This record gives sequence, C-alpha cells and structure tokens, in this order.
Amino acid sequence: SICYLNGEYLPLDQARISPLDRGFLFGDGIYEVIPSYGGKLVGFGPHIDRMQEGMALIEIGFDWDHAQWKDLCQQLMAKNGNGNLGIYLHVSRGADTKRYHAYPEGVEPTLFAFTFEIAQPPVADKSKAKGYKVSSTEDLRWRRCHIKSTALLGNVMHFQKGYAEGNNETILYNANNELTEASACNAFIVKNGVVITPPLDTQILPGITRLMLLDILRKYTDIKVEERVVTMKEVAAADEVWITSSSKEVAPVISVDGKAVGTGQIGDVWLKAQKAFEAHRYDY
Ligand code: PLP
Repeated sequence: SICYLNGEYLPLDQARISPLDRGFLFGDGIYEVIPSYGGKLVGFGPHIDRMQEGMALIEIGFDWDHAQWKDLCQQLMAKNGNGNLGIYLHVSRGADTKRYHAYPEGVEPTLFAFTFEIAQPPVADKSKAKGYKVSSTEDLRWRRCHIKSTALLGNVMHFQKGYAEGNNETILYNANNELTEASACNAFIVKNGVVITPPLDTQILPGITRLMLLDILRKYTDIKVEERVVTMKEVAAADEVWITSSSKEVAPVISVDGKAVGTGQIGDVWLKAQKAFEAHRYDY
C-alpha cells in the first residue's frame, strides 16, 4: 500500500524512520485512526480536533489545519483504492541527534500516515452482529488516558489479558471499582432502557464514536443517556454492555469474564442505537 512520510507518498515497505525518532524511543507522539468507507470519512472533524488537542497537550508544534489533513486523507484513500480503509495518522516529536528526555528544540516532528483494509461498515442486524466477549481487569495505565499517545504498552498489556483468555477485549476499572473504558474502546452499560457511560476525565480517551453516539442518541432517539460514574457492580447487573470504537462503532458485549450480560443475547437497545448511528455516521 501507499503511505505518507514527511511530505512524500511512497510504498509502505519502503518507508524508513530514524531509530532516534522519539516516537520509536519514547512513544513520544500522538495518533489517530479514522475509518472510511468507499472514500467517505467517518468523524473526520472531531478526529482532527482531538489530534490537534493531543499535540497541544504534549507541546508538539505541528500546525496543519483541517484542509491540509483532509487533503492527506483524500490522497491516501485515492492512492489505496478508495475501499474500506482505516487511516492511521501519527505525529511524533521527531528524530533528535541524541537520546535525551527533554523536548528538543529545532527538531521537526515526524508525520507518518498509512491505510489498512477494514471490514464493511457494521450493520444494525442481530443475526449479523458479533457478540463480543470481554475480560475485565484493574486499569493499570497512566493517569493521562485522555491523551491519545502512541505509547500504548499499557493498553497492549490489558488487551493481551483478554486475548489470552479467549476474549475479544478487556474492560477496565479503577481502584474504586469504577468502570473506565476498554483497552481500545469506550464502554457503556444499559439499565432499564437508560444508556450510561463514564464521564470524560483523564481516566479515559474522549472517543469519537462515544461523542457521535451520545449526540445521535440525544438528537434522534428517545433513548435516555447519562454520563456518570458506573461501578463494576452496575456492570455485572446491566441489561446490556457495549464497547465503542471507530472500527467497531457500537459493539454489543454478551459476556464479561465468562458471565452472561443480561440474557446473554444481543440487546434491543443496541439495535436501536446502532441503527441510529448508521443513519448518521457520515454527518460528523
Ligand atoms: N479508548 C481507547 C483507549 C482507544 O484506544 C480507542 C480507540 O482506539 C477508543 C477508546 C475509542 O475511540 P474512537 O471512538 O475515537 O475510535
């Protein structure tokens, strides 16, 4: 496939970065993944806003505006066939001449972007949807989880726990037994018809699918939505559990640590929510 590296489009297998790149040495960078279907982007504006906020938070000076990012995405989609593509964007603090913790001066950030094939957009159909099985574990990542940092070892280790247990994801809870998110998704519960998700703070990534879903449910459905603390006791007693991410959209969870969620079947509120999401996924 064709990727982009520091101003140049080239075959992915020919792209090279310096081993002194701070993205490589320190995980010192910010990234995004934006889904696209047939050349149409999902959530482009909020994804770029989040990337710009992340770079500002870690003081990477990279001043592309939305139009420049849009052009990059469109070129990458076109060069890679305009199919169903995830677009990965990555800005690291760049390649220094030495390994030294302080932010270097006068070093150009590295911009790397590539695409990868993704499945068809998810469909609101109980017979076609996959019921996700998840593990749970204490969230042992750092306390700046609102930053979409390329340093993902904490997330990788949590994901691996679920994977090793034969599950598809791992949901996480803090020292107070409160749900945070999953290793690569945000998390939701449904109780008595109300959709509930943990509030935005430094414990979770402000997911774009989360943002879009909450907005879509509030604007276009009569489903009640709450952003508030969710305990693991509530997770265990929930009628439905969902995880959301750009590629999965709203994914129904049917078991947590081998215990069925609700009836163990994909729920009716999920169906309504994913249907509404589908109708509006290209609006953002
Ligand atoms: N939380 C974490 C830790 C993630 O890595 C991701 C996405 O990769 C999400 C949540 C979901 O975010 P989004 O909906 O923007 O894809």
